[in-house]
Amino acid sequence: MISGKNLVAGKWLHSQDAKQFKTIDPILDKPLPYDFQEATSHQISAALEAASKSFELFAHTSFMQRAAFLECIQEELDVLQEDILTTYTTESALPEGRAKGEFQRTKDQIQRFIELLSEGSFATASIHTQGPDLRKALHPIGPVVVFGASNFPLAFSTVGGDTISAFAAGCPVVVKAHPYHAGTSEWVAQAIANAIEKSKLPLGIFSHLGGQSHEVGSQLVCHPLTKGVGFTGSFSGGKALYDLAQKREEPIPVFAEMGSINPIFVLEHKLQSDSGLAEALTQSVTLGTGQFCTNPGLIVACNPSGKIDLSSQIKKHLEGMQLPPMVHSNIEKQYNKQLSLLKLNDKLNSIHTSESCLAAVASVKAAQFLKDKSFSEEVFGPFTLVVDCKTVDEVFEVADSLAGQLTATILSETKDYETSKGLLIKLQSKAGRILFEGVPTGVAVTQSMHHGGPYPASTDSRFTSVGTDAIYRWLRPIAFQDCPNELLPDTLKNENPLGLQRNIDGKLTSAAL
Ligand code: NAP
Repeated sequence: MISGKNLVAGKWLHSQDAKQFKTIDPILDKPLPYDFQEATSHQISAALEAASKSFELFAHTSFMQRAAFLECIQEELDVLQEDILTTYTTESALPEGRAKGEFQRTKDQIQRFIELLSEGSFATASIHTQGPDLRKALHPIGPVVVFGASNFPLAFSTVGGDTISAFAAGCPVVVKAHPYHAGTSEWVAQAIANAIEKSKLPLGIFSHLGGQSHEVGSQLVCHPLTKGVGFTGSFSGGKALYDLAQKREEPIPVFAEMGSINPIFVLEHKLQSDSGLAEALTQSVTLGTGQFCTNPGLIVACNPSGKIDLSSQIKKHLEGMQLPPMVHSNIEKQYNKQLSLLKLNDKLNSIHTSESCLAAVASVKAAQFLKDKSFSEEVFGPFTLVVDCKTVDEVFEVADSLAGQLTATILSETKDYETSKGLLIKLQSKAGRILFEGVPTGVAVTQSMHHGGPYPASTDSRFTSVGTDAIYRWLRPIAFQDCPNELLPDTLKNENPLGLQRNIDGKLTSAAL
């Protein structure tokens, strides 16, 4: 049953004084029956104090203990799967197929961290035996605050990559649940709490707090016991929380993944030869009603002949298309407001909204695009802007004008090689992932994935929020100098009990010392 209460270190707390809020059924645009409580200042402090108290113990659990804990979370998610998925579809309007897919993806994501803990390479152990005996490995940073995202109620929320990577690192987690899917989050929090109890870990390693005002998030970020923050959402939210963290007496890292328009560059010969291009682009723009952070909001077409009208081709594919509503009426209102403003912009060549769904496409000439910064702002939803370029130079100018992005895509033919080469050099300073085929929607959870990018796509382009390297956000190096062997962490002991690959005096080896 959904209680609407907040979970603080194993206890579901009710407060007489708490503000209440409800989630919404986006299909009916009506409130759902549950009353959720906004976390009080007392609960916020209690959660972080419990997290801080449990930190030393959790940080010193073995990698295998943490792997077993993550396995237990997978099992407990399975136990509650039906409740989780029913609440997910009711609160988000995302279809059952997407709910099931995201549930499995979330479990697969946990599996990748179980595998990482089993091989242990993320400890990055190095030993220098000449001169003073110096041994260095990574250590968890302390309690982490995680903000759930509105657009992924599972994979980027309570049990998403931020929480799981922090647990894998040995950091306690306090989740600020996203207010649009507070019920789904509560079920998931129940699964995590059950797993903690079964794994006999300190209850303080997890708390789950609700709220729909900025107050809860701000207090969590400003709390002196918070040591790091993971966030996915809007630029305004991420930047506000980042600024708060830098103004604290002790500044802390905020890893915020924010807006991106994920440009796709279609080069001249590709534009002429690929008859399936418009359909593939339309599918990507409208996937999940456009609510993916990798949604391609900008398509830059190199069209010297002027004969190919990509936006009209996309427009045809939008006709008759059916899409579910957006995950919340506030997000849909914001989307419609941005479209209305664009419709007033007389610098656009064309703008077209589908009659059967929310999707829209617009087009603009490169010269106009370059004059007006507002054209490169994210319109979160099933919208894309086609920029028509007459020359390769215009394509390069558009690339130069862009801010940091999560992804950039170059679609080309062999004959476009020289342009691709020049463009690639430019895009390397703009994006965290560069694709040469397909579309940017769809993010594989592997070690080689990078989901982050130069500001404003994220607040720290050196780190990813997807894939196992996400763990490095929650770790910091400690060097031990002339430390007795028996006091060293297992990662650095002479006998190498974990069988890790370690760098010893410049050579990578799994041998004991
Ligand atoms: P959001 O408004 O940034 O909210 C995300 C979380 O941060 C929520 O828990 C929110 O809680 C909290 N928050 C936001 N601003 C805050 C502030 N100034 N101080 C303290 N806490 C704050 O994002 P959203 O609700 O997911 O979606 C709104 C818009 O974000 C969308 O229309 C879209 O433009 C964008 N978005 C982008 C991506 C992406 O990946 N690029 C993903 C999702 C959404 P409270 O509301 O309780 O304060």
